[in-house]
Parts: sequence; C-alpha cells; structure tokens
Amino acid sequence: MSAQITMKTNVLVVGSGAVGVAASIEAREAGAKVLVIEQADHLGGAAAISGGGCCLADTPLQRERGIEDSADLAFDDWIRFGEGSADEVWARFYLERSSKDLFEWAANRGVNWVGVNMNEGNSVARWHAPEGGGGGIWHALHDTAVAQGVDTWMTSTAAKEFIVEDGRVVGVRAERGDSGDTVDIMADAVVMGTGGFASNLDMLREHRPDLREHRVLEGSHIGAQGNGHRILGEMGGITTHMDEVWFYVFAIPDHRDPKGRRGLVVRGVPDGIWVNAQGLRFHNEDLTGGASGAPAVMSQDPAYCWSILDSTMTDGISVSDPQYYVPGTSRNDPAKIAKLMEESPSIVSADTLDGLASQIGVPSGAFVDSVARYNSSVDQGLETDPDFGRPLANRRMIERPPYFALNFVPLARKSFGGVKTNLRCQPLDKHYRPIPGVYAAGELAGMAGGHINGKNGLEGTMLGPSLFSGRVAGAWAAKEAGFGAGFTETAAR
Ligand SMILES: Cc1cc2nc3c(=O)[nH]c(=O)nc-3n(C[C@H](O)[C@H](O)[C@H](O)COP(=O)(O)OP(=O)(O)OC[C@H]3O[C@@H](n4cnc5c(N)ncnc54)[C@H](O)[C@@H]3O)c2cc1C
Repeated sequence: MSAQITMKTNVLVVGSGAVGVAASIEAREAGAKVLVIEQADHLGGAAAISGGGCCLADTPLQRERGIEDSADLAFDDWIRFGEGSADEVWARFYLERSSKDLFEWAANRGVNWVGVNMNEGNSVARWHAPEGGGGGIWHALHDTAVAQGVDTWMTSTAAKEFIVEDGRVVGVRAERGDSGDTVDIMADAVVMGTGGFASNLDMLREHRPDLREHRVLEGSHIGAQGNGHRILGEMGGITTHMDEVWFYVFAIPDHRDPKGRRGLVVRGVPDGIWVNAQGLRFHNEDLTGGASGAPAVMSQDPAYCWSILDSTMTDGISVSDPQYYVPGTSRNDPAKIAKLMEESPSIVSADTLDGLASQIGVPSGAFVDSVARYNSSVDQGLETDPDFGRPLANRRMIERPPYFALNFVPLARKSFGGVKTNLRCQPLDKHYRPIPGVYAAGELAGMAGGHINGKNGLEGTMLGPSLFSGRVAGAWAAKEAGFGAGFTETAAR
C-alpha cells in the first residue's frame, strides 16, 4: 500500500539539471534550506550529459587567448542569428553578466574552463568548454551545492501538481516512482527546472504540426517531457515560441529504443557527403548546424538524408549519448561504437557504390554520378565544390571500399520556447501577472524568460542561460522565503 508523506523546506527545486544545481547553490548561499526532487532514477538531466559548452562574452579566457569580444558584439550576433525573434531583454541581461556571473561564478565553484571554440553565427570564438564537458560542469556544481548543505536530492520523485492556497503555490505534490508513495513537499517558494520537451514526440507534433508529415527523433535527456509546462499551465502560466525547436540532423534512429522514437547524435564524419532519397547532393555538408544543416535536410522530400563515407572515414565516428560512453565519463567506448556500426540498421555498408545505392533504396545512376562528380572536384584540386561551395582543401575522395551510408534523420535536441517569465523568473499568467510562490528557469522557460534564443542559437546558448536563469530563480525564491536580497543585478530596464 502506498503511503502519504509530508515534508517541509524553504526552497524546493524541481529537477536536478542545470537549474537544479544553480538554483540550489544560489538559494543555499542566501541561507535557505533547499530540497531537490528529480523524477529520473539518476541526477543531472540534460546538463550532465551535455557537451557543456557555454556561450560567454568577454571572459578572462578569451582575453588570455587574444580573442576580442564584448557583450555588445555578442548581443548583435545573438539577435542577428536568431532572426530578430530572441527575447532581447533577457539576451542582454545574460550576455552582460555572462563573464562575471557565469564564467567567474562557476570557476569559483570548481568549474575549470579549458577552451574557447568557434561556432556558426558567431563573429568570434565564444563557446567556452569546461573540463569534462557537461558532466564536468554539473558535477563541480553539484559537489559545491552538497558541500554547502544541500543534502537532500530525491531521485525517482516526480512533481505532479502544485499545492495551492489562496491562489499561491505553497508546495508540490510528487509521486515516488519506486514505491508509488505520494509526497507533499511544502515550501516557501518553488523553483521549477524540469527541462524542455524535446523527448516528447507527441508534444513536439502538437506545437509543430508540420512535423507530423515526416519522421523526427526524440533527442534530449529522457526527462525532457514537458512536465513543468503542463504543471505551470494548470496554474494559468503562459508559454511562448513553443514551435521553435532546435534540431540536429547528424543523427540516426536508436535501434535499441523499442518505441523507435529516440535518436543518437553521430559526430566525427567530416569528409562524408550527404545525399537525399533521390541520390543527389543538396547542401554544403560542412554546415551541419541547427540553422543550416537542419533546414537543408528538413526541406528534402522525404526529410532525411544519407551520409556517405568510405572505409578511410569511419575511424573518428563518435556518438554523443551516455549509452556509448565509458561509464562515468563523456568519452566514447570504442567497443560500443564498433558494435553500433555492426548492429544498427541505419548504418549500411557495401563493397560497391552501386550495391550501396540498392541497399539504401536510392536511384543508382544518380547516386553514383553524385559521388563521381564530388570526387572529381576533389581530384582536380578545386578550392570549393562548384555545386554547394564546400571548401575542398585536404579533402579525401570517397573511393575506398567498403562504402558506408548513415541514415541521418532530424533529431529534436532543445526547446527554444517555453514558459514566459519576467526578469525574476516568475512565470506569468495571461495578464502578465506573476504566479505567486513559484519560479521557472532553464529549458522549461526556453532557457530563460520564455525564449532567450531566437529562431537559431549561437550554441552554448542553452546550458549557459539555463545555469544563469537557475541562479536568478534560486536567488529570488530564497528572498521570497526570507533569505538574501534576490538576484541584485537586474537588467537596467
Ligand atoms: C546531449 C546533449 C548535449 C547538449 N550540449 C549542450 C551544449 O554543449 N551547450 C549548450 O548550451 N546546451 C547543450 N545542451 C542543452 C542543455 O544541456 C540544456 O538546455 C540544459 O541542460 C537545460 O537545463 P535544465 O535545468 O532546464 O534542464 P535539464 O538539465 O534537462 O534538467 C531537468 C531535470 O528535470 C527533471 N524533471 C523533469 N520533469 C520532472 C518532474 N515532474 N519532477 C521532477 N523532476 C523532473 C528531468 O528528469 C531532468 O533531470 C545539450 C543537450 C543534450 C541533450
């Protein structure tokens, strides 16, 4: 028989990912007693399995490497790349504080920033890499939170609904997955950090009816189910830009998923070419990002492609998914990758190009011509490919059998829209009035505010803003609970 348990805290944080660690540190440092619940049987959410990159502007590491950046330059890139649909106030709030309140803040709490990389849409390199990737950053912050006294992290505990008194959120009713017990957690303030909905195909299709026409894959952490959106919606919270989803197209269906819904992101195939179902190239394959590669593949009919490689190009294949990591790291286990290559029905090989065409069901003549034309451009030493402008320096021809084809299917990775909030992370109702007693941050809130990214993200613009908005939410939740002064540096407007 299941039991009913009641608990009490100052600040309850729902979700243990980026928001979970940032909000709990912030609230605890203000002096509040903090409790974290997590629906999965493990902690960390998407944050702990992420690449860990954060878009940060004008940091000490950039200066050390001679990279001249500023919040203004980053803001211009952000707004331009987002095609004008970003939340400008939140974008500026974040970028102006990203060096001090994220880079330095995290460094002071155990995060070791080790690199700065370039990404599509940025005028300078600003994708800051932490040591150990997303696992590195999440563990450092989790360790900090625990050391500061956030000692209750309840896994397999899913928030189901708010407990409400006089129109104010005073706690959360949760369910324990293992025992079925109901847990009522009463709190002076609640921070919702339940992540996005990129692992809920039904919800994706609800907000993007166009996706019903072709296959797309679920591709975030398994907890990204849109739970917080539903719970806040029941309190009258509004959402915005829910149709803006960040897709990657260098992904294959996960053959181990019994429902056939999940995908695996495949990297490390820089010399492959992409052909569509008609056996034709259609794009500069160097442009793989969510703003370039994704729309190119999604506009094919049907909306998938094959990445074509030869035997010299498969060595670097990596899969960004914990199933393929050496346990406890974010490094691929070569044996697991070899097994995937052998077993996955989405990875096909043949000794001839003709044979490959027939296996993947594309017209052989068109396919063999596409490869030959590309090879000839490489062979002639052309600077760029005449069809799609791909730079060809040091490129290899596709000529050594066996040949491989990877079936790339669009994969939903990140939700760019979400619950609308003000600059204190208070979710808003349809009259733009804050819902009392609760805060929303991270991917649930389109990373921050509702949609801090526009149509496209500069990369690193998900984890960074999720950590930052987590801090903001944690600080204001603590203040509401009677601790600290809130996140004192609000945007100057
Ligand atoms: C593989 C991968 C790589 C990525 N790499 C990058 C990157 O390099 N740079 C970047 O900027 N972004 C990256 N992202 C995106 C980034 O990780 C997320 O946007 C960010 O972690 C969001 O933080 P969050 O706290 O809102 O959500 P999460 O970190 O996902 O945490 C949410 C947590 O809430 C839990 N939860 C959900 N519902 C409930 C409930 N009802 N009750 C209790 N708990 C609940 C979930 O299980 C989850 O653990 C990546 C994402 C993925 C999946």
